[in-house]
Amino acid sequence: MHTHLCHHAVGVPMDLARRAVELGLTEIGISEHNPMPSDDFDDWRMYASKLGEYLDAIDAARQAYPQLRIRAGLEVDYLPGYETWIQDLAGRHDWDYFIGSVHYVEGGWDIDNPKRLGEWRSRRAFDVWRQYFDRLTAAASSGLFQTIGHPDLPKKFCFVPAEDCTPLFDTFLHAAAQHGVAIEINTAGLRKECKEMYPAPNFLRLARKRGVRLTFGSDAHQPGEVAMNFTDALQLARDCGYDETVRFEKRAVTALPLNGRVDAP
Ligand SMILES: [Zn+2]
Ligand SMILES: [Zn+2]
Repeated sequence: MHTHLCHHAVGVPMDLARRAVELGLTEIGISEHNPMPSDDFDDWRMYASKLGEYLDAIDAARQAYPQLRIRAGLEVDYLPGYETWIQDLAGRHDWDYFIGSVHYVEGGWDIDNPKRLGEWRSRRAFDVWRQYFDRLTAAASSGLFQTIGHPDLPKKFCFVPAEDCTPLFDTFLHAAAQHGVAIEINTAGLRKECKEMYPAPNFLRLARKRGVRLTFGSDAHQPGEVAMNFTDALQLARDCGYDETVRFEKRAVTALPLNGRVDAP
């Protein structure tokens, strides 16, 4: 979940926590878009100078809502060549988890940015998907992340290749399984043009078959989106054969059965 510090979300951790308590959740995770070495990298992430404010805001929410476990993380962009920077970020706090996400493919294009939608029309969809999954596989193999965000993000604007992408998914999922990295069901896809959670059911069934662990994310960019569509997400997980999820504390993973309510209206 995100906060106002990334410049395209609304609210502070206190607001997210208040909403979570209203919904009866017992644990949430906040994972702002990571800073880059230079603040002008793009216009949709937290500045490095705001890390302290971010962590203080999470602590304030923990104090106000002691009944709620609040995990502190980052959603970190994986780009080749930034590994040292990501390790630097990892060393700045005792984080609970890092979500590794790929938004950028070759040419410095953030494929999910609505302002750069035109790029999709100048490239073959399959080339974009292949580049994306090459990077996602490298992210899963990097040892830098506990879980991988919105794993089939390229479908966001419905530029889906005619070619079969299953081999791309499978290469990534093998790497995730081998390195003990989880993936998430991210319900934000339902709020985008693709109108489908990330990842698609076929992808998730394959993930289950490969033994890849699962987390749940709303990718909330405002308090009203906390745990949005989690009932549907839980159903999707069960339909695809999952009977457990995982949680993170100080980057250690614990499994728990999917027998409770992971629910929101
Ligand atoms: Zn965002
Ligand atoms: Zn993302």
